[in-house]
Amino acid sequence: MRTTVGIIGAGPAGLLLARLLHDAGIESVVLESRDRAYVEQRQRAGILEQGTVDVLRAAGAGERMDREGLRHDGIELRFGGKRHRVDFPALTGGKSVMVYAQTEVCKDLIALRLKDGGPLLFEAEALAVEGAEGDRPRVRFRHQGAEEVLECDWVVGCDGFRGVARRAIPASVSRGFERTYPFGWLGILADVPPSHDELVYARHDRGFALLSMRPPVARHHPSEEVASLPVRSFVSRLYLQVPAGTDAGSWSDEAIWDELERRFETDDDWRLERGPITQKSVTPMRSYVHEPMRHGRLLLAGDAAHIVPPTGAKGLNLAVGDAVTLARALVHLRDTGSAGLLDTYSATCLRRVWQAERFSYDMTTLLHRAPDATPFDDRLQLARLERITASRAAETDLAEAYTGFPLV
Ligand SMILES: Cc1cc2nc3c(=O)[nH]c(=O)nc-3n(C[C@H](O)[C@H](O)[C@H](O)COP(=O)(O)OP(=O)(O)OC[C@H]3O[C@@H](n4cnc5c(N)ncnc54)[C@H](O)[C@@H]3O)c2cc1C
Repeated sequence: MRTTVGIIGAGPAGLLLARLLHDAGIESVVLESRDRAYVEQRQRAGILEQGTVDVLRAAGAGERMDREGLRHDGIELRFGGKRHRVDFPALTGGKSVMVYAQTEVCKDLIALRLKDGGPLLFEAEALAVEGAEGDRPRVRFRHQGAEEVLECDWVVGCDGFRGVARRAIPASVSRGFERTYPFGWLGILADVPPSHDELVYARHDRGFALLSMRPPVARHHPSEEVASLPVRSFVSRLYLQVPAGTDAGSWSDEAIWDELERRFETDDDWRLERGPITQKSVTPMRSYVHEPMRHGRLLLAGDAAHIVPPTGAKGLNLAVGDAVTLARALVHLRDTGSAGLLDTYSATCLRRVWQAERFSYDMTTLLHRAPDATPFDDRLQLARLERITASRAAETDLAEAYTGFPLV
């Protein structure tokens, strides 16, 4: 099999890149190790920056997002029983974010890819990238029980943090920058309307908690007579800081709700609504950047090159930024014969990546309680939060970073 751009991974980075290349008339093949249902149901990100929203619309993937997504103009910071709203449009000259789940972004992009007729092979696991330093890089992959080879002009590793592409870059030219955190997030999905209409980031002496939501989903009524009438059900997405390595099963539903209630406590009459928990999992927290993001004819995009703790809601948005930058570089090469933008791809992306790493780290250390935190650390955290609520400059810095750093 032969193509211009071989893309490994059908997450947001790979699917968006394939779509942008298709729009520009550049051929690609997408290889995805999992099946379609798995990719479409894997619960992950939920906040789209303004720039991501604009890119998805321009790529023709914005119709359902605009219909079903929830535009959010702010977040609430909660600490010491007090509530403080950060007003994004007022602080950033009109920017906002969109609550629309990564599962839905992937469904929309997969549907477009299949409509475009571009090859997207599910259950096709890349085994190795070979020949990145030459003119004819190849991906060896396994599909339907047989081993095959995809020959390309360029290979793009969009295969996430545990993929194979990054491993094809020799250790002699690789540098990894990493920080792990001594805590993770216990995340739940619950069939109950969110108890607040915007995200709530709570700092508490017992640890961090986040109140988030998914847009209402259309479900068919269980009764057969009205089977054709979909019911719009609300879904809450909530997270608790837990020690690293926690088993989600060790938390009963009641213990989760009790702990959420404590960490979201306020001085006023705000109440947390409880409901049936439909999903529970623990996410580890890590910051990681691989430099460079290009080696010969192999390029990395998204989580394959960098990950952030989810506190700043940046991972999916960084993947989108890489895909846009790379698509432009490949189109520039095709149109002008110049590899100039490909040569600067890694440096261009890394500038934005490090800003997101910094912001995600700042948000994480601002709101989580480390297991060895001292009373001094607690006071510093509170002082940092007070500063954000008291200074327009400090608050603007948060709002600008949250709503997104400019794409290229
Ligand atoms: C619980 C959680 C919450 C998060 N919340 C947010 C948030 O609110 N906002 C945000 O912006 N980000 C968030 N993130 C991060 C975000 O989900 C990721 O940054 C995003 O998925 C990156 O997209 P990607 O396409 O680079 O990688 P992925 O989505 O990981 O996609 C990689 C794909 O490659 C496939 N693959 C792997 N190996 C191979 C192989 N050998 N061959 C073929 N295919 C392969 C995988 O199956 C996968 O489909 C969250 C992450 C988690 C886990």
